[in-house]
Amino acid sequence: MSNDEVVLSGSVVGKVLEVARACVDEKRKGWFVNMKQFRDAMDALNLDSREVSEALAYLKARMYVITFPDADGGGTKISVVPQWHQCRFCKMWLDMRDEREHHIDDCLRRQAKMARNQRLLFGGGW
Ligand SMILES: [Zn+2]
Repeated sequence: MSNDEVVLSGSVVGKVLEVARACVDEKRKGWFVNMKQFRDAMDALNLDSREVSEALAYLKARMYVITFPDADGGGTKISVVPQWHQCRFCKMWLDMRDEREHHIDDCLRRQAKMARNQRLLFGGGW
């Protein structure tokens, strides 16, 4: 019997994500979570580091967050992935969790349409 196995609960995952989003350091680019605030909040919620890292692994696997080792060697850094990002080619808003390859056809169509509209609007042609 392995009693040290962490049973990950949905509410823990939800809390971790909620806190991570709330602790995003808006002064810095890249949606970085302020780790001190984050850890303090985790302590306040009585979540131990193991539960937190399990929850982060779960969120990471689903593209909600990106985690990477801190350059200072002091643990993990978290970046919260924005749920939407704007395609720089066709300006369409995309869900980050969708596979981007699915957008390629659509993107090319939209770009062609944009080019056509541009010609109509600004290109003269008559
Ligand atoms: Zn696009």
